[in-house]
Amino acid sequence: MHLLEKLLQDWKARGHRMTKTRTALLSLFMEETAPLSVDEIETRLKKKRITANPSTLYRELDFLKTENFLSEIVLDGPKRRFEWSHREHHHHLYCEKCKGIEEVEMDNELAELQLSIQKKKGFKISSHTLEFFGLCKNCKNA
Ligand SMILES: [Zn+2]
Ligand SMILES: [Zn+2]
Repeated sequence: MHLLEKLLQDWKARGHRMTKTRTALLSLFMEETAPLSVDEIETRLKKKRITANPSTLYRELDFLKTENFLSEIVLDGPKRRFEWSHREHHHHLYCEKCKGIEEVEMDNELAELQLSIQKKKGFKISSHTLEFFGLCKNCKNA
């Protein structure tokens, strides 16, 4: 993990300590592909025998978000979800019934739309977020 090592050196140089929770979070998110809610993160950490009180956990998650290791995904209201940010850009399909999350890549389709928005509005787009809500295949047929 060349990238990670470089970033860790950078932290050290800036005086950030490498805490146990932080290390555990980094390895957790490098393993997981789906976005995780804070509850799910807590459960996964417990399995690794790491207990962090909620305020520590939130502080670490916010730190990793500020440092661009994690992205926050807003799906259903106040529930916060995070995923590893050093990945291909993608979007999510969120099932409102079983709360399942699937990924979808569609930026070929979106590229054209972005161009037309830029032209029409004279707005230079630098990024976008887009998530879809509904019923997954299983829930739709249930
Ligand atoms: Zn579902
Ligand atoms: Zn996109």
